[in-house]
Amino acid sequence: MVQQRADVERLPAYVQGKSLPDAVKLSSNENPYPPLDSVLVATQQRLASFHLYPDMGAVAVRERIAARHGVRPEEVAVGSGSVEVAAQLITASAGEGDEVIFAWRSFEAYPILVQVAGATAVPVPLTADERHDLDAMAAAVTPRTRLVFICTPNNPTGTVVHTDELERFLAAVPKDVLVVIDEAYVHFDTDPESADGVDFFRRHENVAVLHTFSKAYGLAGLRIGYAIASERVAANLRRVAVPFGVSDLAQTAAIASLDAEAELNARVERIVAERERVLAALRANGWKPIDSLGNFVWLRTGDRTAEIDAALREHGVVVRAFAGDGLRMTIGDPEMNDRFLAAITGITAL
Ligand code: PMP
Repeated sequence: MVQQRADVERLPAYVQGKSLPDAVKLSSNENPYPPLDSVLVATQQRLASFHLYPDMGAVAVRERIAARHGVRPEEVAVGSGSVEVAAQLITASAGEGDEVIFAWRSFEAYPILVQVAGATAVPVPLTADERHDLDAMAAAVTPRTRLVFICTPNNPTGTVVHTDELERFLAAVPKDVLVVIDEAYVHFDTDPESADGVDFFRRHENVAVLHTFSKAYGLAGLRIGYAIASERVAANLRRVAVPFGVSDLAQTAAIASLDAEAELNARVERIVAERERVLAALRANGWKPIDSLGNFVWLRTGDRTAEIDAALREHGVVVRAFAGDGLRMTIGDPEMNDRFLAAITGITAL
């Protein structure tokens, strides 16, 4: 039998949000709206070139992203989805014996990516009200800590980190620890007190920000995300990247999406309005969801998670179940959300 890394063989695989035939899929925090015509046209024009490799330096899209955020292109690194950029950040920062801190529960990929890198995952429980416990996270830092993930809005709880909290946290953490602010859902965040990752990046050399085109921009299937990081860190991300990892179609669609931001923002506003409608309807039905600032809502269903998940499926609605913990329902278009609300009406609230 061939030799394989035993720690890899023990790893749980990342699980994709499920779907069922004829069901409404609200399990992957995808954007319910189809690609914009302008983005489709731009990518179609590039289809005839897919016999060629993409621009490995992703120069045009990095310049466009840099201009969007008022940073330099040297401070931008792209990857095949922000999850790949997260993997690059870990690989560039941490190896065997090093520690990576993140809140838990948070994005499912963090512990897997940390273990793949051979580093040690240090999950720090969320507070009772499902927020990052930044004091406990700062206290978890040791001389082996290389990186901290802060996910705001947090997947799957929808809670955010506020500016003053992050300021305090950064003051408490040594400057040689990279603090990565994962803002995959930032466009849906309507809380004026939320920390602005790019602003923190400008003021703190050890801060990097992760953004994705998968959520608000609706390019989940094309796979492109990016980090804004110091020139040194961004260069290291390019060093550890798999060559040609971001397709020409993805780069083209990202630029076209940035050109169409007003149109995309109108969709984001609709999703945010639907989120508030769903939260209000759930509360009117006796459920007690906490406020969410992402494109999803979180129901802490505990021991009843599997039962409620199964009942929703019977009604043709697929959400994301975290065994024994809770359910995360992605906000879809009004019709999809109505189906979810109709399905959950028949289930006794917790
Ligand atoms: N960060 C968070 C918090 C996420 O929830 C996700 C996707 N579920 C990602 C990063 C990765 O998204 P992508 O790779 O599609 O950019």
